Amino acid sequence: QVVTRFAPSPTGFLHIGGARTALFNWLYARHHGGKALLRIEDTDRKRSTPEAIDAILDGLAWLGLDWDEDVVFQSERGARHVEVAEQLLAAGHAYKCYATTEELEKMRAAQRAAKQPLRYDGRWRDRDPADAPAGAPYVIRLKTPEDGETAIDDQVQGRVTVRNAELDDYILLRADGTPTYMLAVVVDDHDMGVTHVIRGDDHLNNAFRQLPIYHAMGWAEPTYAHIPLIHGSDGAKLSKRHGALGAETYRDEFGVLPEALFNYLLRLGWGHGDREEIDRDEAIALFDLDGVGKSPSRFDLKKLQNLNGHYIRTADDARLARLVAERIDLPTDEGLLTDAMPVLKTRARDLDELAEGAAFLFKTRPLALTEKAASLLEGDARAILHQISARLRAENNWTIEALEATTKSLAEELELGLGKLAQPMRAALTGTTTSPGIFDVLVLLGREEALARLDAQAA
Ligand code: GLU
Repeated sequence: QVVTRFAPSPTGFLHIGGARTALFNWLYARHHGGKALLRIEDTDRKRSTPEAIDAILDGLAWLGLDWDEDVVFQSERGARHVEVAEQLLAAGHAYKCYATTEELEKMRAAQRAAKQPLRYDGRWRDRDPADAPAGAPYVIRLKTPEDGETAIDDQVQGRVTVRNAELDDYILLRADGTPTYMLAVVVDDHDMGVTHVIRGDDHLNNAFRQLPIYHAMGWAEPTYAHIPLIHGSDGAKLSKRHGALGAETYRDEFGVLPEALFNYLLRLGWGHGDREEIDRDEAIALFDLDGVGKSPSRFDLKKLQNLNGHYIRTADDARLARLVAERIDLPTDEGLLTDAMPVLKTRARDLDELAEGAAFLFKTRPLALTEKAASLLEGDARAILHQISARLRAENNWTIEALEATTKSLAEELELGLGKLAQPMRAALTGTTTSPGIFDVLVLLGREEALARLDAQAA
């Protein structure tokens, strides 16, 4: 059975890269009918905050990524990490290192001077611990193999090898008895039964260092898939400037629907032909690691907005009304918003645009006019409004077709283009110069309110 995991360090929000890693792990497990697990790597107690944990859980839930079994908190597994370090020590796969900080600093300075790579030189590897002063502090280091090479058949990167001579004897347990990331991640992955480690390719080097623990413990290696990182649209490493923001920023500030971000993240580094719009169920059916590209993907906010527009057009109107109501600073009516949605959503690319487009419905008289709208009421516009109002008042059939026909015949009588009528109408009815079609606006406002707004500006 396939078991994947998402293992974020809760030192910040759920950013785009993390959300994509979470999605790929989740999809891989769902596609293969396996389990997707969540582990919060909160061992860095100083940098991990409860707020960050909440933001990550909240962002994942919003994206609709659910996890099998209880969330594992790495900080609660310290005793088990120590136990494995001690087993490695007892079996001769690890050793105590008594080198002092000053001593190691001197070692690195010499390496720097000789232009050598900075790494622990194994000075306690074969030394008798009895050489150390009684009670001196020590760390436990892994005895990594010195000869041969370690190979990974990475599902994305292909076969990658490293000469074992390049692996240093890194620390498993610090002097204060706390485990390092390198130890904790391997022990937890093994204990959780993880079969597939899918993560950013910034962790590829770690994989080579982690494998010797599996080998020393006689544990089955996981299958690795290291995904190329996400770059900004200019090809540089993704930063805040490019939109490397938390999932909640896309929700709250960009007005993005979760299904749009889901689809966008899916397409960020994974493809199926040239398909852009792929919903959740289809994603589960189609996702596999062979569709993950080998080169970095580029973050493109425009693409996300276009996808969002697509999902807005296909979303349920009552749900959109609920989401949009929160974004309008006026008392709203969700029933009216729902009725207006088919008209509003044809052109909006995010929830704020929807809210902007809908706001006219809830304004109270006298409407405040934008400067541009006010300029549309200059000249004989108010007199024209007067005629329009009188003609529409006589209209018994308050439908788009009837109102359009009536307005058009008035325009012909006045020998004016339809725009000459529609522009002051829009200003009077919405207080702005952009709105849905003017006859949609009349119908959505209803006869009484529409006529009252026209009359308020007519002369
Ligand atoms: N906690 C690590 C991180 O957030 C990920 C560890 C892993 O996936 O092995 O970068």
